[in-house]
Amino acid sequence: MKDTIQIVGAGIGGLTTAHTLQQKGFNVEVFEAAPEIKHVGAGIVMANNAMQIFKKLDIHQQIEAAGNIIYTMKITDEQLQPISMVDLSEFAHKYNVQTVAIHRGDLQQILFDVVGNSNIYLGKRLKKIEQHADCTLTFEDNSTVKSKYLIGADGIKSIVREQLFENSTIRNANQICWRGICDCELPEKYQAVAIEAWGSGKRFGFVHIGKQKVYWYALINLKNKNIEDIQLTDIFRDFHNDVLKIIEATSQSQIIVNEMTDLKPIFKWQKKNVGLIGDAAHATTPNLGQGACQAIEDAYAFGKLLDAGFSIDETFKHYEKIRLNKAHFIVNTSWRIGKMAHLENKFTISLRNAMMRNFPKSANKKQFNKIMDISYLDDLIKQLR
Ligand SMILES: Cc1cc2nc3c(=O)[nH]c(=O)nc-3n(C[C@H](O)[C@H](O)[C@H](O)COP(=O)(O)OP(=O)(O)OC[C@H]3O[C@@H](n4cnc5c(N)ncnc54)[C@H](O)[C@@H]3O)c2cc1C
Repeated sequence: MKDTIQIVGAGIGGLTTAHTLQQKGFNVEVFEAAPEIKHVGAGIVMANNAMQIFKKLDIHQQIEAAGNIIYTMKITDEQLQPISMVDLSEFAHKYNVQTVAIHRGDLQQILFDVVGNSNIYLGKRLKKIEQHADCTLTFEDNSTVKSKYLIGADGIKSIVREQLFENSTIRNANQICWRGICDCELPEKYQAVAIEAWGSGKRFGFVHIGKQKVYWYALINLKNKNIEDIQLTDIFRDFHNDVLKIIEATSQSQIIVNEMTDLKPIFKWQKKNVGLIGDAAHATTPNLGQGACQAIEDAYAFGKLLDAGFSIDETFKHYEKIRLNKAHFIVNTSWRIGKMAHLENKFTISLRNAMMRNFPKSANKKQFNKIMDISYLDDLIKQLR
């Protein structure tokens, strides 16, 4: 029997990595702070790169069945008039797998089930970690676990990163984001499209995650506003009526609010047999919808290195070398898009929109190709030899 690998954090990154390692014959123990997996009020888009990996793990069909397949992504103005569009069916044809919008809780449950209840320890919040030859993990309930191989998948505020790695900076994007889910009947034309409407210093995105279930998000520039005083229907009054309908159809209990942050790129994700993955290593603003997809690529990178014949020690050592560039490309590009999306001056907005409308389709496609491609890992692994 191969070694046991401990993972802190049962988010999308931790669970996908756990399942990948199980498939390579390792035992896993996943420690999660939350006492239960909550059905939080948000959806998520699993882009083609993530879905290709789920296909290799043979769980893509479950995810497609639980969510809603989307074929187009549009950026629009306030009145839902397109500024830019990406045809996702091209990637579906190329890679033979779809892009899926899904309830986060449903995705989490699918991953939880494949990893197996008996390998996941809930209510285990890591409070202290010491690294000698092995690591000693101490949890808030004062229980301890020894770990020879450890993966920190504990999110942007990672304790593993904070206690074992050099200082890192969480950056505030000065934008606040509401996310909600509602049951509503929208016109058929929206069924297979993810739309993000850009206004002045604000934007509103929505996508179906089921036949009559819509996940939406709304972002505004944060300017010392008191969140409690904000009425979203007032803020988005100048948007298309369908936007207002969606907000009005959502009950308050189905809305969550966060400030937008990311992790300023760090260049060390590994210290002996401890590795950071997902948001713990490279949290990004959500403007490319790639944070979780990149965590899933981390899991895939671990599996690819093992498949290539590297030992588990070598896998920990090499993993950051093959993942840093792409993950940092996403963090940096997403940060720039976030700023571009929230311009406030009417003149610069019309200039931006005109430029985006005339942006060559081929250049747009090239950027998306780079994001959806996961074969770059094969090339980088060859260079390690
Ligand atoms: C508004 C918004 C929209 C987004 N939309 C998308 C999208 O459409 N597509 C996409 O790919 N990504 C999206 N993302 C990004 C995505 O949510 C994250 O990148 C992804 O969830 C990261 O997964 P993770 O497993 O690395 O970390 P997390 O999801 O943060 O999971 C970390 C886990 O570790 C646990 N934990 C934390 N501390 C401890 C501790 N001390 N001990 C034990 N357990 C601990 C947490 O409880 C949690 O379960 C979005 C993000 C935001 C904010």
